[in-house]
Amino acid sequence: CSRTLARTGCRNVCSSPSRLQSMSAWVIDQYGSSGVLRHTEEITIPTINFAHDVMIKVSAASLNPLDVNMRGGYGAALLNIRRDPLSVLNSFSEFPLILGRDLSGVVVDCGSGVTHFAPGDEVWAAIPPWKQGSLAEYVTLTEYEVSYKPKSLSHIEAASIPYVANTAFSALVNTGGLCRENSLNKRVLITGASGGVGTFSIQLLKAWGAHVTVTCSQNAEGLVRGLGADEVVDYTSGDMAEQLEMMQRFDVILDNVGGDTEEWAMGLLKPWSGAKYVTLVSPLLLKTDSMGLLDGTLNAGLTLHNKAFQNITSSGVFYRWAFYAPDGPTLDEVSRLVDTGKILPVVEAQFPFTQVPQAFQKLEGGHARGKTVVKVA
Ligand code: NDP
Repeated sequence: CSRTLARTGCRNVCSSPSRLQSMSAWVIDQYGSSGVLRHTEEITIPTINFAHDVMIKVSAASLNPLDVNMRGGYGAALLNIRRDPLSVLNSFSEFPLILGRDLSGVVVDCGSGVTHFAPGDEVWAAIPPWKQGSLAEYVTLTEYEVSYKPKSLSHIEAASIPYVANTAFSALVNTGGLCRENSLNKRVLITGASGGVGTFSIQLLKAWGAHVTVTCSQNAEGLVRGLGADEVVDYTSGDMAEQLEMMQRFDVILDNVGGDTEEWAMGLLKPWSGAKYVTLVSPLLLKTDSMGLLDGTLNAGLTLHNKAFQNITSSGVFYRWAFYAPDGPTLDEVSRLVDTGKILPVVEAQFPFTQVPQAFQKLEGGHARGKTVVKVA
């Protein structure tokens, strides 16, 4: 594994920005709508605290639906436990909170235990939602969360990929059981395929030889076909379910839409053959927000258990929820797929750092066709 290669002397040779005390960032000081976003030059720089920390100067960031949701307080109950696990700090507050889950940038400092990166390395990463985000000049992450940026991409292009890539791998591989070795000719249905996760997932599955059917709006057909989709079903046409029912059954469904999708989609899976429905739209965080951590987790767990039990016993199909998971080594693999031309970035819109509120507005307008990126530096 290339991750075992030692890069020595990192901490000693770098030109650390630690002499600087504050940085530029977009923050929120309370949850709310677009008005809560505030630009400041006075955020404390996140310096190296642990041996495996890597400090990165951010060149570009991208936005995900999660950023809009987190701005409104989504997931706060669970995320605050991750931020302050033992609740030791009575005065703990997540504010000022920096949003932005993706970054592409350059390493400027490393902890003494970092062996894989050195200052000057161009890297990309998907930032866990409980950590401070990338709408800022600097971010500090653990070595495990970081990966070398694909050489063939600009920072703007690279920033469009990490969060959706880690999410797609978590959903398709860890939860859906697919991988490079077993995907050949597997039939996969992706709903909501024209957005960030969908446009990445189509390309990943085609690189692995799967047969990919997607649902999207009619005006996204050219985009998804260009990325490799074999069959495209327009969900606005009114006969989506009939069209899908006429097709051969699927091995895996990746649901990026949620809502009533599972009601009509479960019947499209091959019965009694290990087929899986995997949704990225679960009620877990909504429940922990509204019912509290314990009751919300128990209630969500019960919901998941009941649906999984009912589906496996009635038709032999697996019902699963999937979540983003931080994973630098997976980004290493994605980097290779990008540099060999198997995966292209899909950047729909680009905003300067001064226009972060406008970038949020773009995202809130919906109808994404790939990703919205912010040039930070
Ligand atoms: P995007 O907003 O980038 O894309 C959503 C896409 O779905 C848009 O292109 C939209 O276009 C399309 N769409 C909307 N309604 C439908 C429909 N009924 N049928 C088919 N297509 C539809 O979102 P992402 O790709 O980034 O994420 C997808 C979902 O996964 C989001 O709900 C997100 O919150 C969730 N997610 C969950 C994660 C987790 O850890 N659980 C991690 C990452 C994402 P149009 O409206 O024009 O059709």
